[in-house]
Amino acid sequence: MNHELRIYNSLTNKKEIFKELIPGKVGIYVCGPTVYSSSHMGHARSAIVFDLIIRFLKFVGYQTKYVRNFTDVDDKIIAKAAEEGIAVEKIANKYKLEYLEDVKNLGCLSPDFQPCVSENINEIIELIKKIIASGYGYVVAGEVYYNISKFSDYGKLSNQSTDSMLSHTRLEINPNKKNDLDFALWKSSKEGDPSWNSPWGKGRPGWHIECSSMSTKYLGETFDIHGGGRDLIFPHHENEIAQSECTSNEKFANYWIHNGLININKEKMSKSIGNIVNIQDALKIWNKNIIKIFFLTHHYRTPVDLSSEKLKEIKKTLIKIKKKISDTKNIRERKMDDFRKLWINAMRDDFNSAKAFGYYFKYINERALTKSNIDLIEEFEITMGIFGWRNEINDDTSSEESFEQKFDQERIQKIILERNMARQIKNWKKADDLRLQAEELGIELIDTKNGTSWKRK
Ligand SMILES: [Zn+2]
Repeated sequence: MNHELRIYNSLTNKKEIFKELIPGKVGIYVCGPTVYSSSHMGHARSAIVFDLIIRFLKFVGYQTKYVRNFTDVDDKIIAKAAEEGIAVEKIANKYKLEYLEDVKNLGCLSPDFQPCVSENINEIIELIKKIIASGYGYVVAGEVYYNISKFSDYGKLSNQSTDSMLSHTRLEINPNKKNDLDFALWKSSKEGDPSWNSPWGKGRPGWHIECSSMSTKYLGETFDIHGGGRDLIFPHHENEIAQSECTSNEKFANYWIHNGLININKEKMSKSIGNIVNIQDALKIWNKNIIKIFFLTHHYRTPVDLSSEKLKEIKKTLIKIKKKISDTKNIRERKMDDFRKLWINAMRDDFNSAKAFGYYFKYINERALTKSNIDLIEEFEITMGIFGWRNEINDDTSSEESFEQKFDQERIQKIILERNMARQIKNWKKADDLRLQAEELGIELIDTKNGTSWKRK
């Protein structure tokens, strides 16, 4: 089978014909989660996008080697452990297992290797030693930093000058750094934090070094594809390139693939807004194939706006085409060969699953289907990772509560709590403002002698 495939490479900002390093083989490294809380729909999108890419690479005949890491040593994990009074390793392990369960429940293929930072400390220390020996790293007070002014290509992935990077980054003032954008390769640890012995004292790796180390360990100094969410381009991926290329003098990854980010009802998903949709919660309401098809009907690079309403629409479309497929008759043969050619071409053009799904819906809707068409439909479903959805999705809508309602309830409870506190300290202005906030959500607050209740207006 002809392999020709075009991939949008974030490094050159162009679609390029994909050329693998070793004929017939593809090595791909994807940045995985930092395991300090339950995984959300942003994680789901990344897992689903790279699952699609792996499936399609296999479909066109490549042998793939897929590596996705876990960041299990990180400030956020340490903070969470302190907050809950639990050991850091326990927190990391809990959320690592949860993530594995979540992506399995989404029906994604497992990567071939899923390394963790805590199991690769020696390799990381060796790489830091090399960076120092090459003149790119410096040691200050038990910590090691990368000197970005030595790496002339710094900024080539995010296509920015150092001035622009500085203006887009929140940096803590650190007198130990030679340049403001220098970043830690090794950090000293506070008493009680996870730490390992190193030539520079007890401590732990900085965030970026793990991916340079683990990608090289499994895929070599130069490999085919590096992936991750768009939010990782700067500084994380920029720093990975600097760390890897300064010691190897070779190109790090040949192609960089970045998936777009997600909004929830046109708002950024964030803890402070209170609109984070966890994978587990979404799967309680929606079948995994509805979530997958929702993401795959968008091109992987575009931002997506997720809402219960849109998932409902996907479900309606699926119920309609399920009926159409089950109406298959042994009528005269009508071939769907053009369907096959069209969806494969769409996927060969930078994995355009949105276009491919467009053909899937169109052909099923417009044609009288024959038994032989079913094989073509199933080949598509297997390749896209949605095979079997017709047995799993029915038109029962009883479990379809929306996650927006849950967010509202959480927001209202928060408003009531804050308002009670304001009233206790007689801050009437704040209490009134909070009442207005509730009204904007369409909620009327009712004060009684037993406390505050609410009703929808
Ligand atoms: Zn990474």
